[in-house]
Order: sequence, then C-alpha cells, then structure tokens
Amino acid sequence: MIVFKHSKYLRLYLGYIKRKGLSIGFVPTMGALHEGHLSLISQSRKNTDITICSIFVNPVQFNNKDDFQKYPSSIENDILLLEEAGCDILFMPEEQEIYPDDASKVKHFDIGLIENILEGKFRPGHFQGVCNVVEKLLKIIEPSHLFLGQKDYQQCLVISRLIQLLNLNIGISICPILREPVGLAMSSRNRRLNENERKNAAILYETLNNIRNKLPEENFLKLKQAAISDLENKGFKIDYLELAKSDDLEILENSNSNNSLILLIAAFLNEVRLIDNLMVKD
Ligand code: AMP
Repeated sequence: MIVFKHSKYLRLYLGYIKRKGLSIGFVPTMGALHEGHLSLISQSRKNTDITICSIFVNPVQFNNKDDFQKYPSSIENDILLLEEAGCDILFMPEEQEIYPDDASKVKHFDIGLIENILEGKFRPGHFQGVCNVVEKLLKIIEPSHLFLGQKDYQQCLVISRLIQLLNLNIGISICPILREPVGLAMSSRNRRLNENERKNAAILYETLNNIRNKLPEENFLKLKQAAISDLENKGFKIDYLELAKSDDLEILENSNSNNSLILLIAAFLNEVRLIDNLMVKD
C-alpha cells in the first residue's frame, strides 16, 4: 500500500493509474477502522481495479467540539488493517491540505430538505461539513466509484445529491451494516463504550427489529412511544426514532405505504452518540 499525505503527489500517481485505463474505487473514512470499514475496502476491491481509502477526521462536520476532540484515533493499527485488507492507496492529509484557510471551509451546497431532518436537525451544519470535505476529496481523487456504508444512510443520500449537484459521473454502492455478534452496529465511537455499555447498546438494534416485526399490524406512533420510554428507562437519551421513505427520508407516521421504508434511530448512551437503521420494506 502506498501512503500519501499530499494531494499533489497523490494526483500525479492517480494520473498515471488513470492513463492505464484502470478504475478507481474510493472509501472515505475518519479512521479508527473496524470490520465495517474493511467490508467497504473489500467491496471496492471486488468491483474496481485500484482501491483508495482516505483517513481524515473532518473538523467541519462536528457540531460538538467535545465529540471532535474525543474522536478515536489509531493510525498505526489502521495502516496494518488496510495493508491486510489489500488496500492499494491510503490518503491521510493534514487539515492544512484540505482546508488551506478559513474561507475554504464554508462553501454552501443546496442539498435540499434532507439537510435539516434527522441527523441534520440534531447536528446543525453536519451535512454541509460532510459536503465540504467530500467535494474536496472527490476533486483530488476523481474516483470511478464510491463505497459508502448504510450505517450512515442519510449521509449516503446527501453524498449522492452532492454528486448530482457537482454533475460528476461517479457510481455509488451502499454497503450493508456490519454488526458486533450482539447486534450492535460497528462504529469507531463504540471504542468509547465500556463492556457493560456495549451490551446495553445492542438494545438499539433489538428495538428496530421489534418495531419492524410488529409494524404490519401495529400503529407506528404507538410502537415508537413504547420503544422510547423503554429505552429511556434503560438510560438512553433519544434524539430520534423515525420511520421514513428510504428514497428521500420523508418522515412517515405509519407504514401504510407502497414505498420502500426505513427505521432510523439516534441515541446517547451516557456520553456516546450512536446511530442505527433497518430497512423495513425493500
Ligand atoms: P466513518 O469513518 O465513520 O466516517 O465511516 C466511513 C465509512 O464507513 C462510511 O461510509 C460509513 O457508513 C462506513 N461504515 C461505518 N460503520 C460501518 C459499519 N458498521 N458497517 C458498514 N459500513 C460502515
């Protein structure tokens, strides 16, 4: 694996790759890698000639300073994992490389209503921050294909909207959520949970499954109320638990719809914010 810190040299190298007519798969990450990330690398390797992963903890997408400062980092282990996974290129830019000055952090993208619902409502500015960094990375790398995780489902829709806005010809694959044996969605933030919290956190996925199983007969709003009070009794603080159309995340009050639907949840367990989702009807 070749590691690049500077976009100038990465571009030169990628120019050589592209002249050979090879396709480039791109997996953007914020590091502290786990099997979920590696599954994206594996998908990219199956579907493209050259796989590039980026590790950059993007300050602009954190609405909470504490969350940014406590974001886990394990760069040496990440490099080992990527080597083992057969990743071809790692791009690890410094902040200066992506944001040379303050003005370079504040571009506004018209991504529509999706910006301010669900994650966007509870993390103001988050998706503009995501768009700012993804636009820069896409301009540097110019990949043929992007591999993203369903774990951040709303982010997948935001990035696909961004790609439309920028009029780029980049394919997107949304890859399944990898979970711990107990069901907890793998996440870099899980490293901040102790053993007991990890076990408790699995209840989020159980809750989504329970609701999905009962939905055909029972009213969603009642199920939601019962689930929220149960989770609150177990020490969670719920940001949202919603049922939505999976194509645009329009929030619904019941499941009487022919559309493909998704359940989404975000909750704090003590200091750590967790998100998860589950397709209801594909
Ligand atoms: P992050 O490092 O959290 O920004 O995530 C980088 C990419 O990995 C995003 O596309 C995530 O959706 C994806 N990802 C994170 N967790 C998982 C998981 N448990 N399973 C599959 N993909 C994941």
